Amino acid sequence: MKIFISSDIEGTAGIVDWQQVIGPGPEYEMGRRLLTAEVNAAIDGATQAGADSFVVNDSHWTMQNLKPDELHHDASYLSGRHKPLYMMEGLDGTFDAVFMARILH
Ligand SMILES: [Zn+2]
Repeated sequence: MKIFISSDIEGTAGIVDWQQVIGPGPEYEMGRRLLTAEVNAAIDGATQAGADSFVVNDSHWTMQNLKPDELHHDASYLSGRHKPLYMMEGLDGTFDAVFMARILH
């Protein structure tokens, strides 16, 4: 089962202040760690449910928020800008499910 994950930092558990959302700074680094851990938890849960392939599209701000060296080893990571489909860049008909990690404003 192949999963597409679009990650945004707003709405991540533990994010409570704007300084955790926009860097640079130690609060933003904490936000990055929280976001990466939450995405990894989603991947772990989906793996237990039978998923075995993951693409994570970083959709917040500069789109370079997740910590690649801490991201789940089974995930491919789409980072950086120049994404015509923005939060859904990389999604195609080969995926079985989409996870949206964000809060709607
Ligand atoms: Zn965002």
